[in-house]
Amino acid sequence: MRPPIFTKADGGKLEIGTYALTRLFYFVQDTPNKNEAGGLLLGRHIVDSTDIVVDEVTVPEPGDIRRRYGFYRARRRHQAIIDRRWRESGGTCVYLGEWHTHPEDHPTPSDVDQRDWKRKLRDDIFDGDYLYFVIVGKRSLRIWEAAKRGSHCMLIGEHCHFGADGVENDNPT
Ligand SMILES: [Zn+2]
Repeated sequence: MRPPIFTKADGGKLEIGTYALTRLFYFVQDTPNKNEAGGLLLGRHIVDSTDIVVDEVTVPEPGDIRRRYGFYRARRRHQAIIDRRWRESGGTCVYLGEWHTHPEDHPTPSDVDQRDWKRKLRDDIFDGDYLYFVIVGKRSLRIWEAAKRGSHCMLIGEHCHFGADGVENDNPT
């Protein structure tokens, strides 16, 4: 499994590391009984560049509400994980954004998602000037970038993964 690398609006790279990617794929809603899942993106700003690596993701915690169409994150537990990883890493592992799944092949943000993302851009405290939002669909993962206190979320890439036919496909037709 190759880690996907996306080009950000400023030309820098954003990579989703294999460990994080593997955890995301575990929650793909590829069968009717799998509910939405979600969590936070954690990783590093690479020194002397604007590159970013997503090293880890948090996964559903007790208290989160998971439905076929809908995921509600209990804020406190995920925040505690961010705080702990930040301390353990000596301040290099930071909050980069969040992810959730959709039971559709190639995901698009719902109205609720867009409102939620704008609220995070306004209210969340984070390093750097951008937040990233990943939605993991059944056949591809898409990632959006948005500037701090901005209101526009820009799609910066799509990564196709194992689909129903079990074939990894980076070039959907
Ligand atoms: Zn959504």
